[in-house]
Amino acid sequence: MGNLSTFCKTGVIFCCAALLYACSPKVVQPPKAVQPPDVPPIPIVTKQFDITDKFYTNKADSLLNILKQQIPAMLYDSMGAIAVPSEWVGSVNFGIRKANFVILHYTAQDSVQQTLRTFTLLRTEVSAHYVIGKDGKIFHMVNDYMRSNHAGAGKWGSVTDMNSCSLGIEIDNNGTEPFTDAQVNSLLLLLTQLKKTYNIPTANFIGHQDYAPRRKSDPGPLFPWKNLADKGFGLWSDTVVIPAPPNFDYATALRIIGYDTSDLSAAIVAFKRHFVQQDSSPIMTQLDLNVLYNVYRKY
Ligand SMILES: [Zn+2]
Repeated sequence: MGNLSTFCKTGVIFCCAALLYACSPKVVQPPKAVQPPDVPPIPIVTKQFDITDKFYTNKADSLLNILKQQIPAMLYDSMGAIAVPSEWVGSVNFGIRKANFVILHYTAQDSVQQTLRTFTLLRTEVSAHYVIGKDGKIFHMVNDYMRSNHAGAGKWGSVTDMNSCSLGIEIDNNGTEPFTDAQVNSLLLLLTQLKKTYNIPTANFIGHQDYAPRRKSDPGPLFPWKNLADKGFGLWSDTVVIPAPPNFDYATALRIIGYDTSDLSAAIVAFKRHFVQQDSSPIMTQLDLNVLYNVYRKY
């Protein structure tokens, strides 16, 4: 403590800060309490969901009962008779299924509190595994091994039930504003953990609009896809791209990447909002063709 302490006349040892107060001849009055400004307190959101947390626990318990069922496959013929004999014999080698995709969303709502409420109301029937607030706080709402209702109807490659094989991440954003640095930092940390834990392929980090181009527009052209791809989450075009050949079949290229091309215009818009991010028209310019040619060759 040598150079950080000394003696005053009483011989009592004080640290430097205390010394200034203790050895002063004046009696220092503590400052008066400052009245807080007239603003409502910030709600502690996690204390508002005790009832829905209990509902979650009960529902998880009921799903556990399904996992414990040991019922053999019952196969009937057209007359209703059992077609083949079957019997349950439990294996000793099994585990729990893991997600293989991550679907990224924006909430299209005005606050994270609004989204937490939306995802805890039965009537909405929607949810996500994670919600990321503008301050970077992450709310984990559905266990990673459970199926959450975030992707809905759509098609990516041959996957038509994305909810059953993906994790959904909703980012608090109204769809027209930039994502915050805190959100992106938290998202990158979360994706790092998820990719490692579940061994999710780099190409399988996609947006809701990629999966459902006819219905959805999130996470939109402001989403930092290049930043994510630089860290290994999703693919992105090279800085210098080879021009697409004159006879380039862009519809087939979109389908090879994964897009549902049954509505080609919707697929083009989704591709451009993800991989080009300059306009949302359903027209393939030479730039769009070049980027697509570069990206599809990575698949
Ligand atoms: Zn979405």
